[in-house]
Amino acid sequence: VHPLRNTLLYERALKMALKDPLTGVNNRASMRAHINQHISLAQRQNTPLSVLMIDIDLFKSVNDHYGHIVGDIVLTHVAKHITNCTRTSDGVFRYGGEEFVVMLPSTASKGAELLADRIRSDIESMTIESLPIHSNVTVRVGVAHYKPGESQISLLKRADDMLLAAKRSGRNRVIVSSTTPDLEPQSNA
Ligand code: GH3
Ligand code: MG
Ligand code: MG
Repeated sequence: VHPLRNTLLYERALKMALKDPLTGVNNRASMRAHINQHISLAQRQNTPLSVLMIDIDLFKSVNDHYGHIVGDIVLTHVAKHITNCTRTSDGVFRYGGEEFVVMLPSTASKGAELLADRIRSDIESMTIESLPIHSNVTVRVGVAHYKPGESQISLLKRADDMLLAAKRSGRNRVIVSSTTPDLEPQSNA
């Protein structure tokens, strides 16, 4: 019985090490290997790959106005809504405090952009009991499509750059990274 129990405990510990304890989505530690796998697959099979980077707008003010416990509840709801909008084959990761990454294998530009906007509008209209009825949580989403040969860092950076652009242009929006470097990013909100 003991070896079996130890194996089960070990497997459980391995699984937990890859999860974010607050939101239950994959954590950042598990992200790098996951993305590299997706990149090799996209290269090998010549299939599209898209990434979404999601940042909660003005999240610090949620903590400041309603406290960190409510902030944690908001984070959990946002993660749940992101997960519910995606397929099981997509990877959802908590990248940082109030930032999430979604990997979309076999998903080209149109599909990824539609999904990004579905996530954005779904979160905008969600209700959270601990928050006053009029206060809605919003997110901005940076979208990047994998360019053959590019590194994981470059792909994530392009999505992250779009988050900055979205912040500058007013938050609660989706911005897509251009595949040609000299074109202006295209706004989708
Ligand atoms: P912006 O619209 O520019 O993204 O503003 P912001 O307030 O969302 O961004 P900022 O980086 O200023 O603040 C992020 C906040 O997220 C600050 C930090 O305390 C909070 N945060 C990070 N992790 C957690 C967490 O696990 N729980 C809670 N409650 N808050 C967290
Ligand atoms: Mg942030
Ligand atoms: Mg934020």
